[in-house]
Amino acid sequence: MISVKHLSKTFTNPDGSKITVLKDVNCEIKQGEVISIIGPSGTGKSTFLRALNMLEPPTGGEIWVDGENIMAKGYRLDKLRQKMGMVFQNFNLFDHMTVVENITYAPMRLRGVPEEEARKEAMELLSKVGLAQKADVYPSSLSGGQKQRVAIARSLAMHPEVILFDEPTSALDPTMVGEVLSVMRQLAKDGLTMLIVTHEMRFARDVSTRIFFMNEGIIYEDGTPQQIFEHPVHSATKAFVNRIQKLVYEIDSDNFDFLGIGSDFNNFCVKYNLGAKIDVISEVMEEMLFKQLKDVRPLTLRLTYAALSDETALDFMVEGITTSPLPQGSAMDGIRAKVQQVIEEPTTRGFRVKILI
Ligand code: ADP
Ligand code: MG
Repeated sequence: MISVKHLSKTFTNPDGSKITVLKDVNCEIKQGEVISIIGPSGTGKSTFLRALNMLEPPTGGEIWVDGENIMAKGYRLDKLRQKMGMVFQNFNLFDHMTVVENITYAPMRLRGVPEEEARKEAMELLSKVGLAQKADVYPSSLSGGQKQRVAIARSLAMHPEVILFDEPTSALDPTMVGEVLSVMRQLAKDGLTMLIVTHEMRFARDVSTRIFFMNEGIIYEDGTPQQIFEHPVHSATKAFVNRIQKLVYEIDSDNFDFLGIGSDFNNFCVKYNLGAKIDVISEVMEEMLFKQLKDVRPLTLRLTYAALSDETALDFMVEGITTSPLPQGSAMDGIRAKVQQVIEEPTTRGFRVKILI
Protein backbone atom coordinates (compact mmCIF):
# COMPACT_ATOMS: atom_id res chain seq x y z
CA MET A 1 0.00 0.00 0.00
CA ILE A 2 2.82 2.42 0.90
CA SER A 3 6.38 2.00 -0.25
CA VAL A 4 9.10 4.41 0.89
CA LYS A 5 12.47 4.36 -0.86
CA HIS A 6 15.57 6.26 0.22
CA LEU A 7 13.47 9.07 1.64
CA SER A 8 15.43 12.09 2.81
CA LYS A 9 14.64 15.52 4.14
CA THR A 10 17.07 18.37 4.62
CA PHE A 11 15.92 21.65 6.14
CA THR A 12 17.66 24.88 5.24
CA ASN A 13 17.78 27.31 8.15
CA PRO A 14 17.28 31.06 7.65
CA ASP A 15 21.05 31.55 7.99
CA GLY A 16 21.64 29.17 5.10
CA SER A 17 22.92 26.27 7.22
CA LYS A 18 21.41 22.88 6.54
CA ILE A 19 20.18 20.10 8.76
CA THR A 20 19.47 16.64 7.41
CA VAL A 21 16.73 15.14 9.51
CA LEU A 22 15.75 12.13 7.42
CA LYS A 23 18.78 10.43 5.94
CA ASP A 24 17.62 7.31 4.18
CA VAL A 25 14.25 5.96 5.23
CA ASN A 26 13.03 2.76 3.60
CA CYS A 27 9.92 0.76 4.41
CA GLU A 28 6.93 -1.11 3.03
CA ILE A 29 3.57 -0.75 4.74
CA LYS A 30 0.80 -3.21 4.00
CA GLN A 31 -2.90 -2.78 4.45
CA GLY A 32 -4.10 -3.62 7.96
CA GLU A 33 -0.73 -3.13 9.60
CA VAL A 34 -0.54 -1.18 12.84
CA ILE A 35 2.94 0.25 13.07
CA SER A 36 4.25 2.11 16.09
CA ILE A 37 7.21 4.39 15.55
CA ILE A 38 9.32 4.79 18.66
CA GLY A 39 12.64 6.48 19.28
CA PRO A 40 14.38 9.36 21.06
CA SER A 41 13.07 12.85 20.42
CA GLY A 42 14.62 14.84 17.61
CA THR A 43 15.27 11.77 15.48
CA GLY A 44 12.82 12.70 12.72
CA LYS A 45 9.66 10.77 13.67
CA SER A 46 7.34 13.74 13.14
CA THR A 47 9.21 14.80 10.03
CA PHE A 48 8.77 11.30 8.63
CA LEU A 49 4.98 11.38 9.11
CA ARG A 50 4.77 14.90 7.68
CA ALA A 51 6.85 13.86 4.69
CA LEU A 52 4.65 10.82 4.09
CA ASN A 53 1.55 12.94 3.60
CA MET A 54 3.48 15.76 1.90
CA LEU A 55 2.86 18.35 4.62
CA GLU A 56 6.64 18.63 4.53
CA PRO A 57 7.78 17.75 1.02
CA PRO A 58 10.80 15.42 1.12
CA THR A 59 14.05 16.49 -0.52
CA GLY A 60 14.93 13.06 -1.89
CA GLY A 61 13.71 9.53 -2.46
CA GLU A 62 10.33 8.18 -3.43
CA ILE A 63 6.98 7.53 -1.80
CA TRP A 64 4.58 5.19 -3.56
CA VAL A 65 0.96 4.94 -2.46
CA ASP A 66 -1.31 2.37 -4.11
CA GLY A 67 1.14 2.09 -6.99
CA GLU A 68 1.47 5.82 -7.63
CA ASN A 69 4.51 7.95 -6.96
CA ILE A 70 3.04 10.77 -4.88
CA MET A 71 6.17 12.89 -5.30
CA ALA A 72 5.82 12.87 -9.07
CA LYS A 73 4.83 16.14 -10.76
CA GLY A 74 1.12 16.26 -11.41
CA TYR A 75 0.12 13.91 -8.59
CA ARG A 76 -2.95 15.44 -6.95
CA LEU A 77 -2.40 16.01 -3.27
CA ASP A 78 -6.10 16.17 -2.45
CA LYS A 79 -6.27 12.53 -3.50
CA LEU A 80 -3.50 11.73 -1.02
CA ARG A 81 -5.14 13.71 1.77
CA GLN A 82 -8.27 11.65 1.31
CA LYS A 83 -6.38 8.37 1.55
CA MET A 84 -4.17 9.42 4.43
CA GLY A 85 -5.65 10.94 7.59
CA MET A 86 -3.53 12.63 10.21
CA VAL A 87 -4.11 13.08 13.95
CA PHE A 88 -1.86 15.62 15.66
CA GLN A 89 -0.61 16.02 19.18
CA ASN A 90 -2.56 19.27 19.55
CA PHE A 91 -5.83 18.11 17.96
CA ASN A 92 -6.04 20.96 15.39
CA LEU A 93 -9.82 21.17 15.61
CA PHE A 94 -11.64 24.16 14.10
CA ASP A 95 -12.59 26.15 17.20
CA HIS A 96 -15.32 28.18 15.49
CA MET A 97 -17.21 25.05 14.43
CA THR A 98 -19.23 22.69 16.60
CA VAL A 99 -18.00 19.15 17.11
CA VAL A 100 -20.31 17.73 14.45
CA GLU A 101 -19.41 20.51 12.00
CA ASN A 102 -15.74 19.72 12.50
CA ILE A 103 -16.50 16.19 11.37
CA THR A 104 -18.85 16.92 8.46
CA TYR A 105 -16.81 19.76 6.97
CA ALA A 106 -14.30 17.78 4.92
CA PRO A 107 -16.66 15.04 3.69
CA MET A 108 -19.13 17.72 2.46
CA ARG A 109 -16.46 19.94 0.92
CA LEU A 110 -14.04 17.40 -0.47
CA ARG A 111 -16.13 14.30 -1.05
CA GLY A 112 -19.38 16.07 -1.92
CA VAL A 113 -21.39 14.15 0.67
CA PRO A 114 -24.87 15.72 1.23
CA GLU A 115 -25.25 17.40 4.61
CA GLU A 116 -27.84 15.04 6.02
CA GLU A 117 -25.80 11.99 5.16
CA ALA A 118 -22.58 13.58 6.46
CA ARG A 119 -24.29 14.39 9.73
CA LYS A 120 -25.70 10.91 10.09
CA GLU A 121 -22.27 9.40 9.64
CA ALA A 122 -20.67 11.95 11.95
CA MET A 123 -23.13 10.91 14.66
CA GLU A 124 -22.20 7.27 14.15
CA LEU A 125 -18.54 8.13 14.44
CA LEU A 126 -19.14 10.21 17.55
CA SER A 127 -20.94 7.23 19.12
CA LYS A 128 -17.97 5.07 18.24
CA VAL A 129 -15.62 7.38 20.15
CA GLY A 130 -18.11 7.81 23.01
CA LEU A 131 -19.04 11.44 22.35
CA ALA A 132 -22.48 11.40 20.73
CA GLN A 133 -23.80 13.72 23.45
CA LYS A 134 -21.20 16.36 22.54
CA ALA A 135 -22.18 16.77 18.88
CA ASP A 136 -23.44 20.34 19.15
CA VAL A 137 -20.95 21.90 21.54
CA TYR A 138 -17.82 23.81 20.58
CA PRO A 139 -14.38 22.25 21.06
CA SER A 140 -13.45 24.80 23.74
CA SER A 141 -15.85 23.11 26.16
CA LEU A 142 -14.19 19.71 25.75
CA SER A 143 -11.34 18.14 27.70
CA GLY A 144 -8.12 17.26 25.89
CA GLY A 145 -9.05 13.60 25.71
CA GLN A 146 -12.45 14.44 24.25
CA LYS A 147 -10.90 16.81 21.70
CA GLN A 148 -8.54 14.09 20.56
CA ARG A 149 -11.41 11.62 20.19
CA VAL A 150 -13.24 14.19 18.04
CA ALA A 151 -10.08 14.62 15.95
CA ILE A 152 -9.98 10.85 15.42
CA ALA A 153 -13.67 10.81 14.41
CA ARG A 154 -13.01 13.68 12.01
CA SER A 155 -10.19 11.77 10.43
CA LEU A 156 -12.32 8.62 10.08
CA ALA A 157 -15.07 10.60 8.35
CA MET A 158 -12.90 10.82 5.24
CA HIS A 159 -12.73 7.01 5.03
CA PRO A 160 -8.94 7.08 4.83
CA GLU A 161 -6.92 4.01 3.93
CA VAL A 162 -4.43 4.84 6.64
CA ILE A 163 -4.26 7.25 9.58
CA LEU A 164 -0.99 8.74 10.79
CA PHE A 165 -0.91 9.63 14.50
CA ASP A 166 1.80 11.93 15.81
CA GLU A 167 2.04 11.45 19.57
CA PRO A 168 -1.73 11.61 20.00
CA THR A 169 -1.60 11.37 23.78
CA SER A 170 1.43 13.42 24.70
CA ALA A 171 -0.42 16.73 25.15
CA LEU A 172 -3.00 15.14 27.42
CA ASP A 173 -3.36 15.08 31.18
CA PRO A 174 -2.37 11.62 32.40
CA THR A 175 -5.97 10.90 33.35
CA MET A 176 -7.07 11.23 29.73
CA VAL A 177 -4.49 9.11 27.99
CA GLY A 178 -6.43 5.89 28.51
CA GLU A 179 -9.64 7.02 26.79
CA VAL A 180 -7.75 7.96 23.62
CA LEU A 181 -5.66 4.79 23.61
CA SER A 182 -8.76 2.66 23.97
CA VAL A 183 -10.35 4.29 20.90
CA MET A 184 -7.11 3.56 19.02
CA ARG A 185 -7.07 -0.04 20.23
CA GLN A 186 -10.56 -0.47 18.84
CA LEU A 187 -9.53 0.98 15.46
CA ALA A 188 -6.62 -1.44 15.35
CA LYS A 189 -9.00 -4.32 16.07
CA ASP A 190 -11.27 -3.10 13.28
CA GLY A 191 -8.35 -3.51 10.88
CA LEU A 192 -7.56 0.13 10.14
CA THR A 193 -4.04 0.69 8.86
CA MET A 194 -2.26 2.95 11.33
CA LEU A 195 1.15 4.53 11.75
CA ILE A 196 1.58 5.81 15.28
CA VAL A 197 4.42 7.84 16.72
CA THR A 198 4.16 7.16 20.44
CA HIS A 199 5.99 7.02 23.74
CA GLU A 200 3.45 4.63 25.20
CA MET A 201 5.53 1.46 25.14
CA ARG A 202 2.94 -0.87 26.62
CA PHE A 203 0.38 0.32 24.12
CA ALA A 204 2.87 -0.05 21.26
CA ARG A 205 3.73 -3.55 22.36
CA ASP A 206 0.10 -4.60 22.75
CA VAL A 207 -1.53 -3.20 19.62
CA SER A 208 1.18 -3.08 16.96
CA THR A 209 1.84 -5.62 14.28
CA ARG A 210 5.22 -4.00 13.73
CA ILE A 211 7.53 -1.50 15.42
CA PHE A 212 9.92 0.93 13.77
CA PHE A 213 12.68 2.14 16.04
CA MET A 214 13.81 5.45 14.56
CA ASN A 215 17.18 6.85 15.44
CA GLU A 216 19.40 9.42 13.75
CA GLY A 217 17.16 9.92 10.75
CA ILE A 218 16.73 6.32 9.70
CA ILE A 219 14.60 3.33 10.65
CA TYR A 220 17.28 1.81 12.78
CA GLU A 221 15.42 -1.38 13.53
CA ASP A 222 12.14 -2.79 12.22
CA GLY A 223 10.44 -5.85 13.64
CA THR A 224 7.53 -7.38 15.50
CA PRO A 225 6.91 -6.06 19.01
CA GLN A 226 8.46 -9.25 20.31
CA GLN A 227 11.64 -8.76 18.29
CA ILE A 228 12.03 -5.09 19.14
CA PHE A 229 11.11 -5.27 22.81
CA GLU A 230 12.48 -8.67 23.75
CA HIS A 231 15.29 -9.42 21.32
CA PRO A 232 16.48 -6.13 19.82
CA VAL A 233 19.48 -6.55 17.54
CA HIS A 234 21.08 -3.13 18.04
CA SER A 235 22.34 -1.82 21.35
CA ALA A 236 20.67 1.57 20.75
CA THR A 237 17.30 -0.15 20.44
CA LYS A 238 17.95 -2.17 23.55
CA ALA A 239 18.92 0.89 25.58
CA PHE A 240 15.85 2.77 24.40
CA VAL A 241 13.27 0.08 25.10
CA ASN A 242 14.73 -0.82 28.48
CA ARG A 243 14.46 2.69 29.86
CA ILE A 244 13.00 2.89 33.30
CA GLN A 245 10.54 5.60 34.32
CA LYS A 246 10.97 6.93 37.81
CA LEU A 247 10.02 9.46 40.46
CA VAL A 248 12.56 10.25 43.18
CA TYR A 249 12.20 12.13 46.48
CA GLU A 250 14.64 12.99 49.25
CA ILE A 251 12.90 12.61 52.60
CA ASP A 252 14.98 14.35 55.25
CA SER A 253 12.46 15.19 57.93
CA ASP A 254 8.83 14.51 58.68
CA ASN A 255 7.85 17.77 57.03
CA PHE A 256 7.79 16.44 53.51
CA ASP A 257 5.03 17.06 51.03
CA PHE A 258 3.15 13.84 51.60
CA LEU A 259 0.09 14.93 49.63
CA GLY A 260 2.20 16.18 46.74
CA ILE A 261 4.00 12.85 46.50
CA GLY A 262 0.69 11.01 46.63
CA SER A 263 -0.64 13.11 43.80
CA ASP A 264 2.54 12.59 41.72
CA PHE A 265 2.24 8.84 42.30
CA ASN A 266 -1.35 8.92 41.20
CA ASN A 267 -0.50 10.71 37.94
CA PHE A 268 2.43 8.39 37.34
CA CYS A 269 0.20 5.34 37.72
CA VAL A 270 -2.41 6.71 35.37
CA LYS A 271 0.23 7.63 32.81
CA TYR A 272 1.81 4.20 32.78
CA ASN A 273 -1.44 2.27 33.07
CA LEU A 274 -0.81 1.18 36.64
CA GLY A 275 -4.19 2.29 37.93
CA ALA A 276 -4.80 -1.09 39.54
CA LYS A 277 -1.69 -0.67 41.70
CA ILE A 278 -2.20 2.85 42.93
CA ASP A 279 -3.95 1.89 46.18
CA VAL A 280 -1.25 -0.57 47.21
CA ILE A 281 1.52 1.86 46.26
CA SER A 282 -0.03 4.63 48.38
CA GLU A 283 -0.66 2.37 51.34
CA VAL A 284 2.85 0.94 51.30
CA MET A 285 4.44 4.38 50.87
CA GLU A 286 2.44 5.77 53.78
CA GLU A 287 3.04 2.85 56.12
CA MET A 288 6.76 2.72 55.35
CA LEU A 289 7.40 6.44 55.78
CA PHE A 290 5.20 7.00 58.81
CA LYS A 291 5.61 3.70 60.60
CA GLN A 292 8.20 1.11 59.61
CA LEU A 293 10.89 3.64 58.66
CA LYS A 294 9.59 6.52 60.75
CA ASP A 295 12.93 7.15 62.46
CA VAL A 296 15.08 6.55 59.42
CA ARG A 297 16.01 9.93 57.98
CA PRO A 298 17.27 11.01 55.58
CA LEU A 299 16.11 8.44 53.06
CA THR A 300 15.49 8.43 49.35
CA LEU A 301 12.10 7.30 48.14
CA ARG A 302 11.82 6.11 44.57
CA LEU A 303 8.94 4.79 42.48
CA THR A 304 10.07 3.00 39.34
CA TYR A 305 8.31 1.40 36.45
CA ALA A 306 9.98 -0.65 33.74
CA ALA A 307 7.49 -0.91 30.89
CA LEU A 308 9.02 -3.97 29.36
CA SER A 309 9.36 -6.22 32.36
CA ASP A 310 6.16 -4.62 33.67
CA GLU A 311 7.90 -4.28 37.05
CA THR A 312 6.73 -1.64 39.50
CA ALA A 313 8.80 -1.03 42.61
CA LEU A 314 8.96 1.28 45.60
CA ASP A 315 12.54 1.72 46.81
CA PHE A 316 13.59 3.10 50.17
CA MET A 317 17.29 3.86 50.14
CA VAL A 318 19.38 4.84 53.12
CA GLU A 319 23.00 5.90 52.85
CA GLY A 320 25.79 4.88 55.18
CA ILE A 321 24.25 1.81 56.80
CA THR A 322 25.09 -1.83 56.18
CA THR A 323 22.18 -3.67 57.74
CA SER A 324 18.49 -3.53 56.92
CA PRO A 325 16.63 -0.63 58.52
CA LEU A 326 13.43 -2.68 58.62
CA PRO A 327 11.99 -3.63 62.01
CA GLN A 328 12.44 -7.29 62.92
CA GLY A 329 9.69 -9.72 63.77
CA SER A 330 6.20 -9.54 62.38
CA ALA A 331 5.99 -5.76 61.92
CA MET A 332 6.28 -6.03 58.14
CA ASP A 333 3.77 -8.89 57.73
CA GLY A 334 0.94 -6.57 56.72
CA ILE A 335 3.00 -5.09 53.91
CA ARG A 336 4.41 -8.43 52.78
CA ALA A 337 0.89 -9.76 52.38
CA LYS A 338 -0.05 -6.96 50.00
CA VAL A 339 2.98 -6.93 47.71
CA GLN A 340 4.83 -9.35 45.45
CA GLN A 341 8.15 -9.27 47.23
CA VAL A 342 10.22 -7.31 49.75
CA ILE A 343 13.92 -7.35 48.90
CA GLU A 344 16.51 -6.14 51.39
CA GLU A 345 19.89 -5.54 49.81
CA PRO A 346 23.08 -3.65 50.58
CA THR A 347 24.25 -1.21 47.91
CA THR A 348 27.61 0.43 47.33
CA ARG A 349 26.56 3.47 49.35
CA GLY A 350 24.18 2.03 51.90
CA PHE A 351 21.11 -0.16 52.01
CA ARG A 352 18.03 -0.53 49.87
CA VAL A 353 14.62 -1.96 50.65
CA LYS A 354 12.96 -2.73 47.34
CA ILE A 355 9.27 -3.52 47.43
CA LEU A 356 7.90 -5.06 44.24
CA ILE A 357 4.27 -4.12 43.86
P1 ADP B 1 10.91 13.86 16.53
O1 ADP B 1 9.50 13.90 16.10
O2 ADP B 1 11.55 12.49 16.38
O3 ADP B 1 11.13 14.37 17.91
P2 ADP B 1 11.28 15.90 14.52
O4 ADP B 1 10.95 15.22 13.24
O5 ADP B 1 10.25 16.79 15.08
O6 ADP B 1 11.77 14.81 15.56
O7 ADP B 1 12.58 16.79 14.34
C1 ADP B 1 13.82 16.26 13.97
C2 ADP B 1 14.81 17.40 13.81
O8 ADP B 1 14.41 18.22 12.73
C3 ADP B 1 14.92 18.29 15.02
O9 ADP B 1 16.27 18.56 15.24
C4 ADP B 1 14.19 19.54 14.61
O10 ADP B 1 14.75 20.66 15.21
C5 ADP B 1 14.40 19.56 13.10
N1 ADP B 1 13.30 20.23 12.38
C6 ADP B 1 12.01 19.83 12.36
N2 ADP B 1 11.26 20.68 11.61
C7 ADP B 1 12.11 21.64 11.16
C8 ADP B 1 11.95 22.81 10.34
N3 ADP B 1 10.77 23.14 9.81
N4 ADP B 1 13.06 23.55 10.09
C9 ADP B 1 14.25 23.21 10.60
N5 ADP B 1 14.47 22.13 11.37
C10 ADP B 1 13.42 21.35 11.66
MG1 MG C 1 7.82 14.56 17.13
